[in-house]
Amino acid sequence: MMHDPATRIQELKQFGEFGDVNPSITDSSTYTFLEAKTMTDTFEGQAPGCFLYSRHWNPTNKYLADAMAALEGTETAWVTASGMAAITCTMLQLCNSGDHIVTSVTTYGGTYAFLKNYLPKFNIEVSFVDISDLNAVKKAIRPNTKLIYTETMTNPMLQISDIPALSKIAHENNAKLVVDNTFTPMIVSPAKLGADIVVYSMTKFINGKNDCVAGAICGSEEFISSLSSVNDGTAMLLGPVLDPQRSSGILKNLHTLHLRMKQHSHNAMYLAQQMTEYGMSVNYPGLPNHKGHELLKSMMNPGFGFGGMIAIEVETSAKANRLMEMMQQEGVGYLAVSLGYFKTLFSNSGKSTSSEVPENIQREMGLTQGLIRFSVGLDNDIENTFTKIRLCLEKIK
Ligand code: PLP
Repeated sequence: MMHDPATRIQELKQFGEFGDVNPSITDSSTYTFLEAKTMTDTFEGQAPGCFLYSRHWNPTNKYLADAMAALEGTETAWVTASGMAAITCTMLQLCNSGDHIVTSVTTYGGTYAFLKNYLPKFNIEVSFVDISDLNAVKKAIRPNTKLIYTETMTNPMLQISDIPALSKIAHENNAKLVVDNTFTPMIVSPAKLGADIVVYSMTKFINGKNDCVAGAICGSEEFISSLSSVNDGTAMLLGPVLDPQRSSGILKNLHTLHLRMKQHSHNAMYLAQQMTEYGMSVNYPGLPNHKGHELLKSMMNPGFGFGGMIAIEVETSAKANRLMEMMQQEGVGYLAVSLGYFKTLFSNSGKSTSSEVPENIQREMGLTQGLIRFSVGLDNDIENTFTKIRLCLEKIK
């Protein structure tokens, strides 16, 4: 049967110990045990359901993690204090010194910087490839490759990853496929398509309010319990624990994610079509001329559209800056990084969220200086928003 992420969330039965409709918020860093033996068992990982210390597990984070596992259809999940913590803990858990990673060259700039500048400190080698070129992925595999890393819809080029094909390549070579699904929650369920581990920046669409930073790792019981091992679990030992207060807020927001994704997608499609008609160069996976359009269609869960992210090209970063300042003034949205917010956000990727990527690599991947990435908001009257955008476009002609 087809995975239905919205219904999985809807059907969660989670409530507080007093019958409160929202689960209670853990206000404790440590937990009592009625019997000393249970404490010993918990340290040895032998007492499921017991809480030891809040960096390890806490009830509020467990509720959110269970909801994320329901969303993705994975056995279980873990939540972290940021998306970067989810990504870095996953990679460091899977790789030892001497291992190798194959990654998409277009990823979020922080992920790129970690792979390029940080992992070499641990003698972990990384090959950067065009992830849409499956032959290049195959060629990059070595005997010590432990994982293939990609984003379902890459940041900021909006390339679409062929998850079933990448999963096949990974598994034929005894490696894991790790997918960052930050741009496409609900729309694509990577674990159902063959990904072993799905990571998220929950800072974005999942929470949708831009009031906190958070991440998640969804995967098998075996992998998640290895992350939380008191002896050598990366999440346990590096300690990027999400604050339970925040966790409880994110859980509530997760329950409206399906509605928000539909509206983000509806508005983004409208803007992409109107901007194309206006004569702009528009990159949106929902348009039939997008290189990954058919592939995305073949992987999508029905009913959530093609997502809220659009990239447009104006010739220079100076022109991009003028346009963004005008759009902010006109009330189109905010000149800010990040995405998945209820207001439209726009930024010039090459000079902001991808500035960690050297300019020659940016050119190679087709990231131009005039690229503006839009995270389209939940505007009720998107036609009126486009009227404002058109006014600004006229002025930069
Ligand atoms: N993954 C993607 C695709 C992102 O866009 C970002 C942040 O912009 C991250 C991961 C990092 O997440 P966080 O900022 O929550 O650490």
